[in-house]
Amino acid sequence: MRCTERAGAGAGGTRNISGTTHDHVLLEAELADLHGKEAALLFTSGYVSNWASLSTLASGIPNCVVLSDALNHASMIEGIRHSKAKRTIWKHNDLADLEAKLSSLPLEQPKLIAFESVYSMDADIAPIKEICDLADCYNAMTYLDEVHAVGIYGPRAGGIAEREGLMDRLTVIEGTLGKAFGVVGGYIAASAELCDFVRSFASGFIFTTALPPAVAAGAAASIRHLKESQAERLAHRARVAEVRTRLDQIGLHHIENPSHIIPVLVGDPARCKFISDMLLREYGIYIQPINYPTVPKGSERLRITPSPVHTTDNIDRLIDALEDLWAQCALARMPLVAQ
Ligand SMILES: *Cc1c(COP(=O)(O)O)cnc(C)c1O
Repeated sequence: MRCTERAGAGAGGTRNISGTTHDHVLLEAELADLHGKEAALLFTSGYVSNWASLSTLASGIPNCVVLSDALNHASMIEGIRHSKAKRTIWKHNDLADLEAKLSSLPLEQPKLIAFESVYSMDADIAPIKEICDLADCYNAMTYLDEVHAVGIYGPRAGGIAEREGLMDRLTVIEGTLGKAFGVVGGYIAASAELCDFVRSFASGFIFTTALPPAVAAGAAASIRHLKESQAERLAHRARVAEVRTRLDQIGLHHIENPSHIIPVLVGDPARCKFISDMLLREYGIYIQPINYPTVPKGSERLRITPSPVHTTDNIDRLIDALEDLWAQCALARMPLVAQ
């Protein structure tokens, strides 16, 4: 409110032509600090930050090869494609395949390994340290999308790389202000030179109106809060553990993974959609069905993402609803675990 009165509802221009306000500068400083980097650069969304940064880096670094994880987000794929740089896709989270691809390239050729920390469909987590080790060994730069981890993991909400003490080993860390931080916008954090390079050449940065100042101020407030407060992260972890335990108790198979996303396998697209529709219509619970082509045929699933503000009462209702619907659909359950 106060920021809107002071600075207006919109930025009124692009970052370079009158659209940069104090709030944008403070937010970039907050983000650089969050990831332990010299600088950060804001974009209007996480999608734009990936698209603009990867296309600018890969096309601007002469003869650069991008090594892209097979399950990378569309925004990374589009950015790499737009760069027209040579691109090699390595098997998802497969270090041996990444190493084979790195070792087939000349040591002095510029290389950029692009990957995510938490992948949102199977909710698995990349072996960041080992990827950084390979990058050092084969003279490659690294670009990590932490969109599903910032605000949720790490002692100051900096993501998986922060939790594992690896932030200084990554060339670029990318994130969103729109998911866990609850506002909108995207960014990269990196060296001052790299951020300047992207700032100077990325059309997706240069030729678009800056985020509204109040949005920037709101995102900075959210980050400042989550840097200090552990309450949300602790509650989140407790809720996730509670949902997993309750699913086990009623014998519903969910994919084990080290993250906050709980995929419950249905294994049939029509039933998956039906259960999701019924959950919303009959029980007032919104859970997305994930069908082919997002996931392979036969692994259709519901993706449950508990939040810190869900209550035990909410979880009771979810478990009761799933029990009803699993019975209606005659879906297989696991043998019940001993209570
Ligand atoms: C959502 C998402 C993005 C894009 O972020 P937005 O801020 O929503 O544009 C980038 N990468 C991944 C992995 C995402 O899931």
